[in-house]
Amino acid sequence: MRNIVSVTACPDYEPQTVRAALKELLKPFGALSFVKPGAKIVIKANLVSMIKPENAATTHPELLKALCEMLVEKGADVVVGDSPGGLFNNVYVNRVYAVTGLKAVTETGARLNQNFEHAHAQNPDGAILKDLEYTSYLDDADAIINFCKLKTHGMMSLSACVKNMFGAVPGTFKPEYHYKYSKHADFADMLVDLNERFRPALCLVDAVTGMEGNGPTAGTPRHIGCLLASDSPYCCDRVCAGIIGLNPDEVETVAAAKRRGLESEFDICGQPDAFRVSDYKLVRERKDMSFDHELPGLAGKLAGKFIQGALSSKPAVKKAMCLGCEKCREVCPAKAIVMKDKVPVIDRKKCIRCFCCQEFCPKGAMQLHRPIIAKVLNRRG
Ligand code: SF4
Ligand code: SF4
Repeated sequence: MRNIVSVTACPDYEPQTVRAALKELLKPFGALSFVKPGAKIVIKANLVSMIKPENAATTHPELLKALCEMLVEKGADVVVGDSPGGLFNNVYVNRVYAVTGLKAVTETGARLNQNFEHAHAQNPDGAILKDLEYTSYLDDADAIINFCKLKTHGMMSLSACVKNMFGAVPGTFKPEYHYKYSKHADFADMLVDLNERFRPALCLVDAVTGMEGNGPTAGTPRHIGCLLASDSPYCCDRVCAGIIGLNPDEVETVAAAKRRGLESEFDICGQPDAFRVSDYKLVRERKDMSFDHELPGLAGKLAGKFIQGALSSKPAVKKAMCLGCEKCREVCPAKAIVMKDKVPVIDRKKCIRCFCCQEFCPKGAMQLHRPIIAKVLNRRG
């Protein structure tokens, strides 16, 4: 059976606009016909951090509320949750719910997840993730709905459906995963394994206002004006990439899914090109640049490594914006950051370019730096 990607206009977050758009969006999926009375549905939102909805880092509460209303009307028992970066406990996560506006979903009869247990499981079918630590509330679901936000991402270029399932890993374990899967291609395979392990029944994307530039937490809100839905996170991310002007084959997660034969041919309902933003500010590296073949042997390998290093984006602190809070040092899985005169200094030899420091800097002071040569060689910055 072919997968479907549905795209519908949603110009703003007004309750009536959102509800009408969701209804239209979900028509190709039988208007949530897979949801039976009494079914337990977990909505895995993107609640990356304690950030207000207008900053466009998290799934907008009005959309989550409208989806909860539709599910509750069908008789489902609905739980909304996520594991943000940081502690996965009652106090911290409930503060994240409050700041991200999630309390609104409880007005519908849905609940916010209050189970903060972890579970451990073997994952023999994973390509790279052979065992995993995960948030155990996901085990209670008859079906998971992945509701993400369309954003740029320092490490992976794109944060949408596939990346959103990283929230299945408890926040305190995320640095360990970054360190273990430090190569970008391995990290992408790990994310695909998480998607295969949890297999969301449906993926939805909040692309009403996306995030561009210094994503996924400190970028700039950018109006796109649509919602997407799919029964495949991989097909949906391919369409998302196209909307913001990324070449889907340069997005590691999309490339990993394709390489593994997980991305099928799919039908599109709607007109994604109508929402394409031609000057979306991207985070992009050329994945197609390899210099290993230019010189033979070890010399070629070393030259290739040097050139690749010179072209790669790196985290760099904007001193004028830095609070000296040390959050970047605390989250760095490679222990590559030390504080000097209250400013972070990065040991480039230790840095694995996971961009956790950029993602969790509360002031957006840790930014992605692209060498000028890379900007010149890429078509767009
Ligand atoms: S997290 Fe940001 S503000 Fe805090 S020390 Fe690091 S760069 Fe500075
Ligand atoms: S310095 Fe930043 S990008 Fe480098 S390993 Fe540490 S957290 Fe990751």
